[in-house]
Amino acid sequence: MSTSENTTFSIRVSSTGDIFEVPANRTILHVLFENGYEVPLDCSNGRCGTCRTRYLSGEVDHRDTALSESERSEFLTVCVSRAHAGEVVLDLPPPQSTQPIERPIAVVEAPVCVACLNCVRFCTFGAARIDNELTGVGGIQGAAVIDADTCTGCGLCAAACPTGAIEMNISTHDSVIGAIHTLNTESVPTRNKEVAEASPAEAPLSVMIFACPQCRETTHEVCGAKSEQISTNVQTRVVDVPCSGRVDTLQLMHAFESGADAVMVAGCQPGECFFNTGNLHVTQRVKRIADWLDGCGLERDRVHMMHLTPGDHDSLTNALDDLTKRTGICGPSPLRRAAFSPTQASTSR
Ligand code: SF4
Ligand code: SF4
Repeated sequence: MSTSENTTFSIRVSSTGDIFEVPANRTILHVLFENGYEVPLDCSNGRCGTCRTRYLSGEVDHRDTALSESERSEFLTVCVSRAHAGEVVLDLPPPQSTQPIERPIAVVEAPVCVACLNCVRFCTFGAARIDNELTGVGGIQGAAVIDADTCTGCGLCAAACPTGAIEMNISTHDSVIGAIHTLNTESVPTRNKEVAEASPAEAPLSVMIFACPQCRETTHEVCGAKSEQISTNVQTRVVDVPCSGRVDTLQLMHAFESGADAVMVAGCQPGECFFNTGNLHVTQRVKRIADWLDGCGLERDRVHMMHLTPGDHDSLTNALDDLTKRTGICGPSPLRRAAFSPTQASTSR
């Protein structure tokens, strides 16, 4: 629905009595965050239901696909739902602070943009466009710009940008790389670290999994259960990402470079991605990394794209078992010793 079909309405927070106007081009979420009211957030487009908030009165125009009819009598999703008119009273606690809360969005550094249009093509929310008034790399006319109000913060554009002109304000490239590095090296138990340094071939296999918001809970549960199986000579580590499509080739490569023997991306089933196509784009990247592994003399079996249905623990367990079995045949990654070297440096762009 376009913003021209939206009407202005107001929200009142029951705990404080604060009243705010929600203009046609803003969402309840925007207004709440701007005024310091924090609600949990994931997809920002009405598909996950994470931001569901209880309302006490009002004529709500429900626009999500997450809530059931019975839930809608009590809750609304503040990211997309609105009021037909008048006022909606929200049952929210007082804000922790009066400072605005930062939402995840993409930001373009125009002087690094080559106006390739990748971000415009990848963004299924229409948030990216080329502004001919801006100056791109080498003084070319035109550079990308992101509409902060429409951006859901999925990160697909950042992963697709060939020049690194797009950075996320939250879940930055460096923060993802830092999480990979920390999980792969610093979180290794002391005994295993000593074994890995002295004799990499004898250390437990290390599997790194990138998990999107929908697959996150299932992935952590399966990996938690695996870590309790004392007989399993495998260590799994999970990197949480805002969408599987946020995972770019540098991040996948860095997982190997920092010591993983195998890497899995856990994203939604085709057609189920919160951000429409993120899981399809990363599937292509995983194929490219398999080719890269081949080119480096490693084995392509070390990387796997898992299309997961949330809650399907059995399929993920089986896929992990298959991956570790194949990796076990390949043996520990030769990059592992380098990862434990004190001179190892992180991958930045
Ligand atoms: S993908 Fe990157 S380089 Fe290409 S238009 Fe967008 S910001 Fe510019
Ligand atoms: S972060 Fe996602 S929604 Fe925002 S501009 Fe990039 S692709 Fe579009």
